[in-house]
Amino acid sequence: MGKIQIMDEWLSNKIAAGEVVERPSSVVKELVENAIDAGSTSLEIFLEEAGLSSIQVVDNGSGMDEEDALLSFSRHATSKIVKEQDLFRIRTLGFRGEALASIASVSKLTLRTSDGDGGVHLYLEGGHLKEHKPTALRRGTDITVAQLFYNTPARLKYLKTIQTELGHTIDFVNRIALGYPEVAIKLVHNGQTLLQTNGRGQVQQVLAAIYGVHNAKKMLAFEGSNNDYKIHGFASLPEVTRASKNYISLFVNGRWVKHFVIQKAITDAYHTYLPIERFPIVLLYVEGDPQLTDVNVHPAKHQVRLSKEPELLKLIEDTIRAAIRNVIRIPLAEKKEKPVRVTNEQLNIWNPQKASEPTFDASKMNSIVERLSSEPIVIKEPYAPMPTKQPSAIERSMQEQIIESFIEETDQPFNVQPNLEESLKVEELPKKEKLHFPQVEIVGQIHGTYIVAQMEDGFYLIDQHAAQERIKYEFFRDKVGEVNVNERQALLMPLTFHYSADEALRLKESKHQLEEVGVFLEEFGHSSFVVREYPTWFPKGEEQEIIEELIEQVLNASKADIKKLREDAAIMMSCKKSIKANHYLDKQQMQRLIEDLRKADNPFTCPHGRPVLIHFTSYEVEKMFKRVM
Ligand code: ADP
Ligand code: MG
Repeated sequence: MGKIQIMDEWLSNKIAAGEVVERPSSVVKELVENAIDAGSTSLEIFLEEAGLSSIQVVDNGSGMDEEDALLSFSRHATSKIVKEQDLFRIRTLGFRGEALASIASVSKLTLRTSDGDGGVHLYLEGGHLKEHKPTALRRGTDITVAQLFYNTPARLKYLKTIQTELGHTIDFVNRIALGYPEVAIKLVHNGQTLLQTNGRGQVQQVLAAIYGVHNAKKMLAFEGSNNDYKIHGFASLPEVTRASKNYISLFVNGRWVKHFVIQKAITDAYHTYLPIERFPIVLLYVEGDPQLTDVNVHPAKHQVRLSKEPELLKLIEDTIRAAIRNVIRIPLAEKKEKPVRVTNEQLNIWNPQKASEPTFDASKMNSIVERLSSEPIVIKEPYAPMPTKQPSAIERSMQEQIIESFIEETDQPFNVQPNLEESLKVEELPKKEKLHFPQVEIVGQIHGTYIVAQMEDGFYLIDQHAAQERIKYEFFRDKVGEVNVNERQALLMPLTFHYSADEALRLKESKHQLEEVGVFLEEFGHSSFVVREYPTWFPKGEEQEIIEELIEQVLNASKADIKKLREDAAIMMSCKKSIKANHYLDKQQMQRLIEDLRKADNPFTCPHGRPVLIHFTSYEVEKMFKRVM
C-alpha cells in the first residue's frame, strides 16, 4: 500500500499559486511576459479596480492552437525550454511553465487565442474547465482574469489599498515599457489610460510617457563598450534630481534587474554634480554574452551575477560621467574655498570705542582663530560630532532635552555652551524658563563667517550660518505649523509639475498632506499638476524647488506623517538662502541676527543639531596665554 499519493493537480496548482501569484501585479507580470515571449509587438492591459475585479491582457503575438491552449493550463507546460543547455542561454522571460495554471486556479479565467488559423475560447473557474468553444479571432491572445483570489479569501486579506496594488502594477509596466520600446504598450485603469508607448523603439518616447516630456527632454543619450559589454542608455542632466534612487533603471540583456553595485557606479558618475541625497533619472541597458550574465540567480528576485564586474563598473561610470561633462561647460570641479588668512584690516573691528576698556587686540584674536582652525575644536558632550546625516526630529528634541537637563544638573556647563547659569543669574530668570541667548556685545566678524562677541566672562564665536538657519527654522516651523489661507499670493504664471502616472496617483491621494504645508496642487491632465498660488512666506526665488522637494518627500514617505513633513519642510526652507560662510555682515546685520537669536526658542543649535555658538571663558583664554596656570 503506497502511502505517497500523487497530489491532486488542482491542489498543487493552488499551492503553486501562492508562490507565483501574490497580488494583481504578479498576474500582470506573468501575462505580459508571456505576451512578449510570444513575439507580440503590441499589447494592451486593462485593469478594473487595480486588477482585483479584472485584468485583461490582449496581445498580437504567436497565439496558440487548440491543443496548446488546453495544454497551457497544466503545470510544467512550457514551450520554452527544450534542452537543458537552454537554461543558460535563456532570453525569454518566463520559463517555469506554471504561471497560467496557477493563475487559473485562483480566478475565473477566459482565454481567447488564435495562431491565425481559427481560434479557441476557454473559460476556467478555479482551474476547472467550464467552457470550450471555437471563436473567430485574429492571431494573438486575449486573456481575462476576473475575480482574482475569489476562492482564496486569506490571500485577499493581504492585499493593500487599490492605489498600492495599482502602484505595483504601474511600476512593473513602466519597467517593461523601458525594456521593450519596440513593443507598443498601453495600460488602462478603470477606463483611464495611464501609459501609452508607440512601439517604434524610441526609448525617449517611453521616457516621456513615464516621466513626462519635460524631464525626457533633459536626458542625455550615452553609449560605450569594452571587450565584453556594450552599454547604452539615458542619463538626466544634473539639474533634474530626485530624492530617491528609484529612478535608476537597469536592464541586463533585456531583463530588468536590481544591482546595487551598478547603481552605485551610476551615482558615482554624478559625484560633485548633484547635491547630497539627490539622485538622477538614469536608464541603463547592458548587453553581454548570456554566459557572462547569470540571470537565473533567482527568477523572481531580479538579481543578476555578472562576470568581469569591475571592468563593467568602470565602463558605466566613465561613460555616464563623460556624457555629463560634455554638456556641463561651467567648471564644477572641486571648487573649494581656500581658507583665507585674515589680516588685521580685514577684521571688521569697530567696537573699541570705550576707552576705559582694553581695546580689542586683533593679532591676539587672529592667533586664537588660527589655532582653532588648525586644531579641531574638541566639542564635549552633549554635542555629538557633526552629523553626516540630518538627525531625526526625535534625535534633535533629545539633544535639546539633554542640553536642558545638563544645564539643570550641573554648575559647570560644558565647553560649547555659554555660561548659562551665569547669564541666567544676570537676567534673573527662573531656571525652568526658556533659555535665552546671553547678553553679548558684538566685537566684529572674522573670516566672513563667525561673529565675535564678548561678555565680562569671556567671548563667543557665533557661526552666522548656523544662527540664521536656527532663526529661519523657527520662523518656518511656526508658519508650516498652521498654514493661514490669508497668507497666500496668486501667481501670474502658474508653476507646473510633471510626474509619472503612478506618482501622480499617489500625489492625488496625498494632496491634503501637501496642503498642510502650504502647497496647493491642482490636477492638470492626468499626470501633471499646477500650483497657482503659494504662501507669501515661502523663501523667495526658490518656490519651484521647495514645492518639488516637498512633493518628493510625500512621495517617498512610507506613511503619511504630517508632523514629520512639517518638520522637514521647516528645516528645508531654513537652509535655503541662509547667509553662507564668507559673507560680510555689517554691524546692523550682526546686531539683528543676535536680537533674533535672543527671541529663538532654542538659540544654541542649528536645526541639524550643530552648535550656533562656542564660548571661550576668560579663564581659558588666560590659560592659553599662560597668564594663569
Ligand atoms: P511559461 O511562460 O513559463 O512557459 P506559462 O504558464 O506562463 O509558462 O505559459 C505556458 C505556456 O502557454 C507558454 O509556454 C506558452 O507556450 C503558452 N502561452 C502563454 N501565454 C501565451 C501568449 N500570450 N501567447 C502565446 N502563447 C502563450
Ligand atoms: Mg510565463
